Amino acid sequence: MLREEEHYEVLIIGAGISGTALAYELARYTDIEKIGIIEKYEDVATLNSKGTSNSQTIHVGDIETNYTLEKAAITKRTAKMVEKYCLQYHYENEIIFSHQKMALGIGEKEVEFLLHRYEEFSELFPYLEVWDKEKLKELEPKVVFDENGNERPETIVGVGATGEWTTVDYGKMSKSFIENAQKEPNTTVDISFNSQVIKIERDTKRGYAVHTKDAVYYADFVIANAGAHSLYLAHQMGHGLDFACLPIAGSFYLTNQMMLNGKVYMIQNPKLPFAALHGDPDVLANGNTRFGPTALMLPKLERYKKGTYWDFWKTLRLDGRVIKALWDLIKDSDIRNYIFRNFMFEVPWLNKVLFLKDARKIVPSLQKSEFKYAKGFGGVRPQVINKREKKLMLGEASINTEKGIIFNMTPSPGATSCLGNAERDLRYIVQYLGKNFDEQKFKDELTEGEYCVLPEPVEAELEHVNEIRAQIKATHERYYQDIEAGKPAEHFWDKPFSNIKRKKK
Ligand SMILES: Cc1cc2nc3c(=O)[nH]c(=O)nc-3n(C[C@H](O)[C@H](O)[C@H](O)COP(=O)(O)OP(=O)(O)OC[C@H]3O[C@@H](n4cnc5c(N)ncnc54)[C@H](O)[C@@H]3O)c2cc1C
Repeated sequence: MLREEEHYEVLIIGAGISGTALAYELARYTDIEKIGIIEKYEDVATLNSKGTSNSQTIHVGDIETNYTLEKAAITKRTAKMVEKYCLQYHYENEIIFSHQKMALGIGEKEVEFLLHRYEEFSELFPYLEVWDKEKLKELEPKVVFDENGNERPETIVGVGATGEWTTVDYGKMSKSFIENAQKEPNTTVDISFNSQVIKIERDTKRGYAVHTKDAVYYADFVIANAGAHSLYLAHQMGHGLDFACLPIAGSFYLTNQMMLNGKVYMIQNPKLPFAALHGDPDVLANGNTRFGPTALMLPKLERYKKGTYWDFWKTLRLDGRVIKALWDLIKDSDIRNYIFRNFMFEVPWLNKVLFLKDARKIVPSLQKSEFKYAKGFGGVRPQVINKREKKLMLGEASINTEKGIIFNMTPSPGATSCLGNAERDLRYIVQYLGKNFDEQKFKDELTEGEYCVLPEPVEAELEHVNEIRAQIKATHERYYQDIEAGKPAEHFWDKPFSNIKRKKK
């Protein structure tokens, strides 16, 4: 519990995964002695970092098809930190879980795209494998067969991995950060719940005065890890006025049984800043399959909490530049259709019919009776609009005022990058306060060396990929030979390219 009028070296606003990860790193790797955390609600991680609010994925960049090689190299380093932290404290199967995972390419265009991507990324992620339909029948049969037990007609390929750490309960991880931070000797980590920061003021003698309804606290350095509300607080102080926040809610659908053995991600449309639709076992729902997330613009900053409509308008700061950024989005027919479709995903009854069509791309046998809208699941991604560039930013935003106060907004994959973002802020804070950072201990415990050096493409990989292409071609040829021999498979006439073959005869 924070003590009123107390002076802290660092005050963190928000006890989600970003705020708690920073508290942990400051307590464990620096000589900062007094850290305070102010949280609006009754517990740690009740908003987007809660286990049921997000997709529980460690986004490494290997199966996220919208990540460039450069982005994946950076994400790999920060994602590895999550894994290293969990293993250090033996949180296997309690906070961190291992499932197989893949990006699924459907149809020849997507298959070729995935094979190309594999060529480019396999040196950065040497564990990646390419799985053709036969292999997928073994690993993830539900992506291959329809409700009658027939193979889906399209060519499919999975690029993925087994035996990697893939899944995290980020809510539990946030709690563990606080517990472990508070165990550190020589550092006090105080936390106050049910305390909403309503105002921050520069205090010439004592750094900053941070006001809640009932108390005021002082700090040399303040960091707002309050999601969309970070921008709200920044605007109040006249910072970040070139940014606006567009809250994009994400919902999920849950099946009544376990359908998938691991994570199956679809190919991402690079124009969209949200993770592609996927299905995977939910670690908080007995491994039943969770499909989603959807993406819907909501006029409020927090999901499943009262109010915050007015806060939305204040952080949007609607003007010509915001309208231009939104208009540019809506002008694109892909994005327009996507927005419209996602709106429909929230309309009772219709949502299931529409969502079924999308989810069947992953599990062709899926029936309407086998899944339901996951009530209470999902959260809000605070996507940031850069007003100067009149554009929606695709990732996180951090406003460092260089005056002892930082404001962070963290849409996806903010949970994966919690320790990496905390490292960025920690480095600045110790420099600003003249404190020390035990970098060696940090590197030994949380990193596996640097990954940002990009690899050269490797000839051997090309060869391997071409073998896979040849294998797919051979499977097709065998298939047609069977037909020539007069024993067509039952589902032959469903094949989209079957007509072309017939015309040639
Ligand atoms: C549908 C969906 C799926 C996602 N999937 C993934 C995924 O698979 N992998 C991944 O890495 N990321 C994912 N994300 C993103 C990830 O969940 C977030 O980036 C992350 O949880 C953000 O953490 P945070 O601590 O910054 O914010 P939050 O978890 O939102 O925490 C902010 C905290 O600040 C507090 N707060 C706000 N205002 C105040 C105030 N004025 N005073 C005091 N406290 C305040 C709030 O109460 C809250 O506790 C997903 C997000 C969504 C919505």
